[in-house]
Amino acid sequence: MNRDSHLILLCLLLSLACNRRPGQATNASSKTAALMGIPGSATHIRQVTGPIDDDRLVHAGDRQQDWLTYGLNYAEDRYSPLTQINKDNIRTLGLAWSLDLGTQRGLEATALVADGIMFLTGPWSMVYAIDTRKGSVIWKYDPQVPRSYGEKTCCDVVNRGAALFKGRVYVGTLDGRLIALDASTGIPVWSVMTVDTTKPYSITGAPRIVQGKVIIGNGGAEYGVRGYITAYDALSGKQVWRFYTVPGDPAKPFESKAMKDAARTWTGEWWKYGGGGTAWDAMAYDPALNLLYVGTGNGSPWDRNYRSPGGGDNLYLSSILAINPENGQLVWYYQTTPGESWDFTATQPIILADLILKGQKRKILMQAPKNGFFYVLDRTNGAFISADPYVYVNWAKGVDQTSGRPLENRSARYTKENSDVAPDYDGGHNWHPMAYNPRTGLVYIPARENIATYGHDPNWIYNKRGGGVGNGWNVSIGFDSSVPTRRDTLASRKDPRGMLIAWDPVQRKEIWRVDQKNNWNGGVLATASDLVFQGTADGFFVAYDAKNGAVVWQVSVGGGVIAPPVTYMVDGRQYVSLVAGWGGGVGMKFKSAPLQPGRVYTFTLGGTKEFPEFNKSIVTSIPEIPFSATNEEITHGRELFRSYCSTCHVIAHGGGGLAPDLAFASPTTHRNFLAIVRDGAYLPFGMPRFGNRLSERETLDIQKFILSSAKRARYQSK
Ligand code: CA
Repeated sequence: MNRDSHLILLCLLLSLACNRRPGQATNASSKTAALMGIPGSATHIRQVTGPIDDDRLVHAGDRQQDWLTYGLNYAEDRYSPLTQINKDNIRTLGLAWSLDLGTQRGLEATALVADGIMFLTGPWSMVYAIDTRKGSVIWKYDPQVPRSYGEKTCCDVVNRGAALFKGRVYVGTLDGRLIALDASTGIPVWSVMTVDTTKPYSITGAPRIVQGKVIIGNGGAEYGVRGYITAYDALSGKQVWRFYTVPGDPAKPFESKAMKDAARTWTGEWWKYGGGGTAWDAMAYDPALNLLYVGTGNGSPWDRNYRSPGGGDNLYLSSILAINPENGQLVWYYQTTPGESWDFTATQPIILADLILKGQKRKILMQAPKNGFFYVLDRTNGAFISADPYVYVNWAKGVDQTSGRPLENRSARYTKENSDVAPDYDGGHNWHPMAYNPRTGLVYIPARENIATYGHDPNWIYNKRGGGVGNGWNVSIGFDSSVPTRRDTLASRKDPRGMLIAWDPVQRKEIWRVDQKNNWNGGVLATASDLVFQGTADGFFVAYDAKNGAVVWQVSVGGGVIAPPVTYMVDGRQYVSLVAGWGGGVGMKFKSAPLQPGRVYTFTLGGTKEFPEFNKSIVTSIPEIPFSATNEEITHGRELFRSYCSTCHVIAHGGGGLAPDLAFASPTTHRNFLAIVRDGAYLPFGMPRFGNRLSERETLDIQKFILSSAKRARYQSK
C-alpha cells in the first residue's frame, strides 16, 4: 500500500470524513510514516458505523463500541452499556498493553476512542492518537505551549480531553488557543486564540461539540479574569457566539440582557478584578430540550468584601447555566453558592438523567459541586428539587426547600473572624468525573473532606499583572491576626480524607461508601454489568460492585491515578483503559505509589501482558542535608514560601501540591537552589523564574525554611 492509501484507509477506519484539500496532501503524506501501525483487515472496516456527525454524537453511548465525547454521551453519565466484562469473569481481567507517554506531569484526561483509535490529551495540551489494537502512538501533536505559561495555571499544566467531529480532533491549549487537528494526521486545520492574551486565562477543560459548534470555556479566576464560554463553527473556526458569565464595566454596554440582570447583583468595582465565574470544566447537552448546561466557577478575588463590598449574589458565579446553543442566550440559571467567597465552584461535572420523583418522571440534572451539597434540578426550567450534604459541611445548615438558597452559618463568611470552613477550597468533590448507573439508581462520587481556615486578608492589593505564583494569585484570603478565629470542633477532619460515595438522588442519601487511603482519587466509570471502576491516588486500579461497594478486582499500576477510566469495544472485545500519572511528586507524598512516568494501561479479559517495571529508584525518605539558620531567617522564609511557593509545592505533606514535595529535594537540588529559583534553571519543566521577584537573600531564607521543615519531618517520621 502506498502512503496515500494508508491515509484513506485510516480515514475509513476512523469513519471520519477526511476533507483534505489537495494542497494539504503533501503535508499529510509527510507524516504517514507514523501511520504504518494501522491494521487493514476487512473486519476493521466492517466496524465502521458512520462518520462522527451530530447524529452519532446524539447517540454516543448507545452504540456500544466507542467513547466519542468527554462524558461518554451528552448526558455525561459515564455509564457504558458494555457487559462483556462482568462480576463473574472480572478475575481474568488482565493487561492488554501499556504505553509510556514520556511525562511525569499530571494526567487528567478522559481518553476518546473512535473505531479503535484513541485520542488522548496530556500535559502542555499535547494530543496523542493511539492504535488501541497495538498500544502504539500513531501521531503526537505538541501545540508548543510556552513553558513559562505554567505560572498562569493554578493546578498544573494539565488537559482533561479532546472532542471529535467530522474527521477532526479539537483541543483547547493551556495558553488559550482552540485548535482543530486532522484526525488522521494530527496536522492543524485551524487555530483560534480564544482569550485576551494580556490576561492570565488558561484552558484545561475539554471542548464539546453541539450542533456543529465547538464550545470552549477557560480558567483563571484565581488570577483575576472574567469568565465566558465561546462557540466556534467546528469546520471553519469562526466565532458564532460568546456568553460572559459575569458582568463587565457597567459604564460600557452590556453584552446581553443576562449581563444587565447580573450587574444588579454586584456592587463596587468588581470588573477591575475580573469578577471570575470561569467555566473551566462541566458541560452537558439535552438535544430534545435544545439546552446546553454549563457550570461556572468562583469569584475573582475570592473574598466578596473586596470583589463586591456592598454584598450581593454576584450572578452568575458558582452557577449552573442553561444556554441556547444556537445563539448563546441564557435560558435559565441556578446559583449554588450566592455571594461565593470560598472558591466553591459549580464547575464540577453535570449529569443529566430521568428520575421518578414522587411518582412523576422528571427530566433532571445532578451536580456535586465543591460546596458539599448534592443538587437535583429540573433541567427543563432550572426549578430546584433537592440539595443534601454528601460530605461533611459546616458553611451552611442546609438548603431552603422553597427558595433553593443555602442557609448559611453566619461565621462562615470570615468577615469579623477567621473561620474553619468545610468543605475546603478543593471541595467535597472536584473535577474528577462522577458516574450514574440507571440500573442501580446510584451516582458514584469521587469525594473528599477537609477543613480550611479562611480569613479576610487586610493587606491584599490587587495584582494587575495576574499570573505568576506568589502575589500573582488574586485570591485575597489570608489570616487576620487582629480578629478571633472560630475553630471547627471536629478538628480530626483537618486531615484530608478521600472516599468513593454511592449516592441515591431519589432517596437523597448515601447508600454505601468506601473510605480511601488518600484524598485525591480518580474519576469514575460505571458499566451496565454493575461495575464501578476507579483509579486511586495511591496507585491502584479498582473495580467495585456497584450495588454495595465490595472490591471485586484490583491491580497496582505503580503510580497515582486521577484520570477517569474509559471502556470500549474493538473487534468484539471490551477494553478498559486508564491513564495513570498523578504528576506533581505524588509518589513522594504517598510512599506506596512512587512517581511513575505517565502511562496508558489497557485491560481486557484474559490479558496476559506483563506490567512494565515500576520505578523503584525514587527517593522515598527525606535526605539529611546539613544547614544553619536563625529563627528570623526561617520565619521570613516561611512567609515567602507561602506567597511564592505554596501554590505548587508542599513540604512533607500528604495532600495537595502539584510539583515535587520539597522535603525530598536532593542535595544536588539544594546546591543549585539559586539557579533553579532565581535564574530559571527549571523553566523547561514549567517552573517559573523568580529572579525579578525574589532577592538572593530572600531565596536563601526560603531554602532555610524548606530545610528546617524537612528536618522536622524527618524526625517525626522516625
Ligand atoms: Ca478556583
